[in-house]
Amino acid sequence: MTSYGGGAEKVAVHWVSWDRLKAPKDVGGAGLGSLRNLNLALLAKWWWKYKTSPQSFWARIIRGIHNHSNRPWYCFSKRNSSGVWSGIDRVKNGLWKLNMEATDILYSNDGGNTWRSEFVVDEIFNVAKLRCRLDKASHPISDGDFWWLNSAPKKVVSFIWRAKQGRIPSAKALQRRNIPVSSIICDWCRNNEETVNHILTSCSLARDTINMVFNWCGLPTKQFTEVNEVLAFARNWGHCPKKKELLSCVVYGTLWSLWKDRNDRIFRGVISEKAKIVDIIKATVFTWRKYRKNRGTGDDWFKWWFSPLCCS
Ligand SMILES: [Zn+2]
Repeated sequence: MTSYGGGAEKVAVHWVSWDRLKAPKDVGGAGLGSLRNLNLALLAKWWWKYKTSPQSFWARIIRGIHNHSNRPWYCFSKRNSSGVWSGIDRVKNGLWKLNMEATDILYSNDGGNTWRSEFVVDEIFNVAKLRCRLDKASHPISDGDFWWLNSAPKKVVSFIWRAKQGRIPSAKALQRRNIPVSSIICDWCRNNEETVNHILTSCSLARDTINMVFNWCGLPTKQFTEVNEVLAFARNWGHCPKKKELLSCVVYGTLWSLWKDRNDRIFRGVISEKAKIVDIIKATVFTWRKYRKNRGTGDDWFKWWFSPLCCS
């Protein structure tokens, strides 16, 4: 006779943690976002409004009441004052808790005459974009969320890991760390600031190169604006695990080659040529796979050159 232990059937329910629900999708969450971060982003928008419309009536009133001429630009209210301006003042504390600074939101390169922000899209401060950034900062990407591919050399994989977190020495990243740089504008397109995401995804050189590589792989054209996006795309592409791994390896090779090409251009004066970069990517990834055991591509160069994703 079987005992059912009193008949009470216990079902273990593993609820998804609230933290995981709030976390952005690309770090394994459900992407609901945090209300605290939304509030922070809304308050930070006032920084932008205040700085970019200094002559507006309300801005002059605020200046008159709080007289912040002797304080850092992000300290708006008098000490111990209450109300919305002290809330705006506390945005900086909220940012510090996320390891961010006021200058990550808003900065001026000319002593405060003009202000810039990566969260301004079409002249409008984009609260949703900032909130998304704050949500990502609240959930630092752990090692586990990154694919430590063993088909690419370790130095390449750790480069990609750092690039994913924006931690490679782009001109913008150097400037943020107070290292003097002659210009923070991309020397290829001369159109945008040289950030990690710009060099590796959104610059016209990166965009065209990625599309030529995708074309080689038989994939449709795609526009990426962040390293994260292109990594996630490769990792989630199709259904075959072997092909996901192969495409990810190609993407790692592409980002690595774009970075090397950028360094050759800036430090050695080598002129970048898209077709040449693509050939280097094909040859580099082929070599990685050929000399690593059991990766399945064998050494069929011809097959690799014409239909790489069939190699697995
Ligand atoms: Zn560029």
